[in-house]
Amino acid sequence: MAIPIPSRQLFIDGQWTEPVLKKRIAVINPATEEIIGDVPAATSEDVELAVAAARRALARKTDWASASGTVRAKYLRAIAAKITERKEVLAKLEAIDCGKPLDEAAWDIDDVAGCFEYYAELAEGLDAKQKAPVSLPMETFKSYVLKEPIGVVGLITPWNYPLLMATWKVAPALAAGCAAILKPSELSSITCLELADVCQEVGLPPGVLNILTGLGPEAGAPLASHPHVDKIAFTGSTATGSKIMTTAAQSVKPVSLELGGKSPIVVFEDVDLDKAAEWTVFGCFWTNGQICSATSRLLVHESIAAEFLDKLVKWIKNIRISDPLEEGCRLGPVVSRGQYEKVLKFISTARDEGAKILCGGARPEHLKKGFFIEPTIITDVTTSMQIWREEVFGPVLCVKTFSTEDEAIELANDTHYGLGAAVISNDLERCERFTKAFQAGIVWVNCSQPCFCQAPWGGNKRSGFGRELGEWGLDNYLSVKQVTQYISDEPW
Ligand code: NAD
Repeated sequence: MAIPIPSRQLFIDGQWTEPVLKKRIAVINPATEEIIGDVPAATSEDVELAVAAARRALARKTDWASASGTVRAKYLRAIAAKITERKEVLAKLEAIDCGKPLDEAAWDIDDVAGCFEYYAELAEGLDAKQKAPVSLPMETFKSYVLKEPIGVVGLITPWNYPLLMATWKVAPALAAGCAAILKPSELSSITCLELADVCQEVGLPPGVLNILTGLGPEAGAPLASHPHVDKIAFTGSTATGSKIMTTAAQSVKPVSLELGGKSPIVVFEDVDLDKAAEWTVFGCFWTNGQICSATSRLLVHESIAAEFLDKLVKWIKNIRISDPLEEGCRLGPVVSRGQYEKVLKFISTARDEGAKILCGGARPEHLKKGFFIEPTIITDVTTSMQIWREEVFGPVLCVKTFSTEDEAIELANDTHYGLGAAVISNDLERCERFTKAFQAGIVWVNCSQPCFCQAPWGGNKRSGFGRELGEWGLDNYLSVKQVTQYISDEPW
């Protein structure tokens, strides 16, 4: 059963606040194409209010940036507990907002709570690490490093993991002592507004986290260009990331960018083909292929290609495609009509360019409404084709064969992106060679996609720079101050 969408306003200075221009954005359930509610649409006027509230939160001396990490950890833990309490509702809201199967949405909510807990621990640890000595070659001086919150941070996030992607930024930013303004994607903002409700319930000091739903150009752009925002952390497409970088450059604002991908998975002949097929299917079709790190380019050894593709097709035929709230759903719709049309266009262009659609490629026959697309495998691909080069961000796997390791590595790295890469082989020395040769920020060996909040996440090349999660994620929101003191009685 679907649940009603709570009617919310923007969250500024700890208060529900109507957008200055009173605009709202319709929320469409991608499984039914029906309007199921709306969310407020912030503009630059609201960004001004949120930035001012965040600056006031930092200026107060007691409750946030200058408080101990232990104090901030208390709030992060309280948020984690409330998220867990509300898990069932949050998972349903996520499923109807962005189309992911309810089970997957429920895992996301567990990960959200886990991420807040993890950064609570790191916030506590910060107290001991905040002042770190530096050894100098002269005894007349002593030096140390202070780690301090960067200040007011703008966090801009995408729609594929709405609350989880927001949490990857909000939790470390708050742990570090920053005040934040979160701008989630206009395509799926409901659960981020529920996070605001949770923050109000746990009594998070006003202005520490402000949440502005709204369109990219109207709410995201003024946030990125605001002179009193000290840093922008962005997750989204490479095209938008590039715009954000240009905007931020005007005020020499630091940015961290988590962008798109076109990640390879290399499958060798020495493996259990059933297990390899399972990882390949999971690696590309989980969350409907709408994962930045989806291993959407399969490189399979030529000696097993035919048998392996047969197995993949059998796996795929067993994937249950349905409304995300239905029991047993494994694949829901893509997020929006725009995304639906974009993915189908990728498939038709691949066909026009001479590739073969081995399976899928269209709307499933049994679903007449909703933005559903069958999981699709495309073979006979050349390296100049669009389907090989560009990120689809949908349920599409393209396939090439290889005969030697060198050829596989060359094909794997034949991309402007550098987010993830996977190798499946029983020869662990070979896996080690691939681990070193892959031009990617994340490498999976004999698996694809597992992600833990303790380990760093991020890409190379046009997949962005900076790392989220783990201690690296906390460092994103800390600035390093060198302090050097003259300690001799001798005149200098
Ligand atoms: P998008 O770039 O269209 O939008 C991302 C966010 O940027 C949204 O909140 C949007 O409103 C905002 N935005 C749009 N234009 C803006 C502008 N001019 N100024 C400021 N903000 C603006 O991306 P999307 O379609 O929401 O997400 C899909 C993309 O995200 C894919 O490319 C995917 O690979 C990437 N992604 C990357 C990671 C990662 O960890 N590397 C994770 C998830 C998604």
